[in-house]
Amino acid sequence: MATVLVWFQNNLRVADQPLLSFSKFSSDHILPVFIIDERWFKPNQFGVTPMGPHRYRFLADSLGALRRRLNALGAPLVVRYGHPEQVLPDLCAQYKVAALRYENEVGTYEQQSIRRIVQALIEKGILISDYPISTLIDATTFTTNPDCLPLQFTPFRQIVEKALNIPPLVPLPVRLNGLQGVQEGHIPSPVEMGLSQLFADARADVHHRGGEEQALNRLQLFMDSGAIDTYYDTRNQLHGSLFSSQLSPWLANGCISARTIYNAIKAYEQQRGANRSTYWLFFELLWRDFFKISLLKHGKKYFLVNGLKPAKTPKRHDAAAFERWCSGSTSSELVNAAMVQLRSTGYMSNRMRQVVASYLVNDLGQDWRWGAAWFEHWLIDYDVSSNYGNWTYLAGVGNDPRSDRYFDIEKQARQFDQDFSFRKQWLVSDKQNT
Ligand SMILES: Cc1cc2nc3c(=O)[nH]c(=O)nc-3n(C[C@H](O)[C@H](O)[C@H](O)COP(=O)(O)OP(=O)(O)OC[C@H]3O[C@@H](n4cnc5c(N)ncnc54)[C@H](O)[C@@H]3O)c2cc1C
Repeated sequence: MATVLVWFQNNLRVADQPLLSFSKFSSDHILPVFIIDERWFKPNQFGVTPMGPHRYRFLADSLGALRRRLNALGAPLVVRYGHPEQVLPDLCAQYKVAALRYENEVGTYEQQSIRRIVQALIEKGILISDYPISTLIDATTFTTNPDCLPLQFTPFRQIVEKALNIPPLVPLPVRLNGLQGVQEGHIPSPVEMGLSQLFADARADVHHRGGEEQALNRLQLFMDSGAIDTYYDTRNQLHGSLFSSQLSPWLANGCISARTIYNAIKAYEQQRGANRSTYWLFFELLWRDFFKISLLKHGKKYFLVNGLKPAKTPKRHDAAAFERWCSGSTSSELVNAAMVQLRSTGYMSNRMRQVVASYLVNDLGQDWRWGAAWFEHWLIDYDVSSNYGNWTYLAGVGNDPRSDRYFDIEKQARQFDQDFSFRKQWLVSDKQNT
């Protein structure tokens, strides 16, 4: 009997999980593995660690939930800390692994790391199976022929909708033939990882907890409450518990698949009717796909100051102005409220992300990459393609046909926070630890 190492990355679920699809005749032992990469905790060139406390807390919750799900199916999850380039070959040797399964990643650094690992394991005679990136649509046409991918979203969406191809869900495994007697490894708490101790913030509208079950509960709430029915009109609100799906943290960690959400939309439409709101949730999931495939195509350009555009004058970096933006002490209360919310919860509405990004780039005239790195550290839904895709878009160096996407702060405040309720929610210091 051979042992197959199943390497989990940003896909922390068992439902709709191609990596766990084994033939019922297979007698292979399964060794599920997750590696907490030590590079996530080292400061980058922008002076912040990629993994902040909220992000890590959500990840650790998701790992705990995955471990429980896998245990119930018969396959203990092994968790290790270190460099995947070292940990994976070590585990392969320790458990006499014959084959590795993993999902392809779109991040440039992740891809480089995976290439090195795969090469080393092939040389050791280990069989490698890679699975497609986790999009809603079957993205093969674009990933195998990147020239087919337009620079902008609208033509992409038109091509996709003309011949919509969304694969069915992968059946849930009934039982897994897990390798027994393994050293499972502890899932460190944020404090054990040197991150600050976090408490739920009483001001938050939603307390996001990692894990597959929590994701499905959130999806069900969004559907059963009927919030999806009015999503088109509410999606630009700044706060509230049901104005948008808030599924992004679970999507980013792969606790739920976009296809599961799509199936729920379709089920809802069949029972209660389709409208532009139900369509719009699908539409937003296509944005997610678009940025993933686009990052795969354009690679490291997304991380350069000029992005996908021909060279422009580089933006400046003023450390004091940036610090005021980060800490929520700018001259704009609207911006400050959102930056406090980000640090307190790891979440921010889409509209406020656009507003604070525009403020940093246009009003303060700063290099957008510092803002993207700050978001990367704090967002519980951090996703490399959505983050860098949206930041380059906002900074006028990405997939936007326009190069001046300016959000007038006063106008935004009048339009979306006329009663000051969002600013009051985050700027009144009534924080309680619960
Ligand atoms: C500067 C900036 C940075 C961002 N960084 C991230 C990020 O790191 N991770 C992330 O998931 N989203 C990011 N977004 C996109 C968007 O703000 C969030 O996906 C959205 O706010 C999440 O809330 P929701 O789940 O309620 O979204 P909903 O409105 O309910 O949308 C449903 C899903 O569609 C996808 N989606 C919606 N809008 C976008 C978009 N503009 N781009 C890509 N996918 C989208 C998300 O997966 C989202 O969960 C960023 C946007 C901006 C302007």
